[in-house]
Amino acid sequence: MENSKSMRNWLDDFQLSHPLVIAGPCSAETEEQVLEIAHELKNSDVSIFRAGIWKPRTRPGGFEGVGAIGLKWLQKAKKETNLLMAVEVANAQHVKLALEHDIDVLWIGARTTVNPFAVQEIADVLQNTDKIVLLKNPVNPDLSLWLGGLERLHNAGIKKLGVIHRGFSTYEKTKYRNIPEWQLAIELKRKFPDLPLICDPSHISGKRDMILEVSQQALDLNYDGLMIETHCNPDQAWSDAAQQVTPSALKQIFIDLKVRKQSDEADEYNSKLSGLRTQIDELDSKLMDVLVKRMKIADQIGLLKKEKNVAVLQSNRWHQILEKMIEEGSQKGLSEEFILKLFKAIHQESIVHQERIINK
Ligand code: PEP
Ligand code: MN
Repeated sequence: MENSKSMRNWLDDFQLSHPLVIAGPCSAETEEQVLEIAHELKNSDVSIFRAGIWKPRTRPGGFEGVGAIGLKWLQKAKKETNLLMAVEVANAQHVKLALEHDIDVLWIGARTTVNPFAVQEIADVLQNTDKIVLLKNPVNPDLSLWLGGLERLHNAGIKKLGVIHRGFSTYEKTKYRNIPEWQLAIELKRKFPDLPLICDPSHISGKRDMILEVSQQALDLNYDGLMIETHCNPDQAWSDAAQQVTPSALKQIFIDLKVRKQSDEADEYNSKLSGLRTQIDELDSKLMDVLVKRMKIADQIGLLKKEKNVAVLQSNRWHQILEKMIEEGSQKGLSEEFILKLFKAIHQESIVHQERIINK
């Protein structure tokens, strides 16, 4: 992995557009559905058609994909539209079937990347393949697990490798379905600047009205491509209905997206700046979430105080908090003055909240 030069070139070989666009339904459902979407997407920015045939579902009983029959539909779609075809593979058997059906691009899903045995098994059957292989990030934000998967594929002699950032799951409710944690992908890009990096705004956002915003962020961070779930009748989709867009909405997204130049100096400055700003924005919204959570807990304490008829201000407790935070802040390089201002403001807001509750 010391040299990733050989990886980048395949994008140019294929003369795939920048950004590289992969689109198609979350799942192949019927032959008609696959063909209809593929026809809508030909002669557009899309160069690779995606469809899940085997669907990893969180709980049993959901739609688990149409299976191998879907590969025949993709073959037909390829013949009729000339689009390259991509499917998700999760084991050696999937890979064998996909290769037999002339699939061009194989991607490894987030739930498979977490499992080194599965990735190794896939790498073994793909030894020295000429196919494009894309590795999604693992569901958990563990960069070494992602890199480890990449190494397994690279060691198997796979040349046309790329990665897909689809966000990371958390227990916390956030505005994302899967938190992007951009800094992980930025770190990956720093380590392997020539490795194609693709963003999957559909699985990051989980809702169609956020796809443009997340796609723009990815392009500002110099991503090489986007994978966007597209369906002619998104609300009726058999999986991931809320996040799929229609082909015409997809086309509008590409009209609205500002595609930046990739490589002059000013652009490098801009993309570094956007990288840092994106991290600040993410942290600010995490700060906001933490503050809201803290206030909700203060509200609960307010209710308890009301029940017991206890005063809002408890000076001892407040002094303990301040001392602890000043100590912790100074160890971490934050000035006493700043910590005081910050916590006084937070404390004041808690008092306002509790007074409102007590006097209700
Ligand atoms: C998908 O692409 O439909 C999919 C299952 O994605 P992920 O592996 O990112 O959850
Ligand atoms: Mn999906």
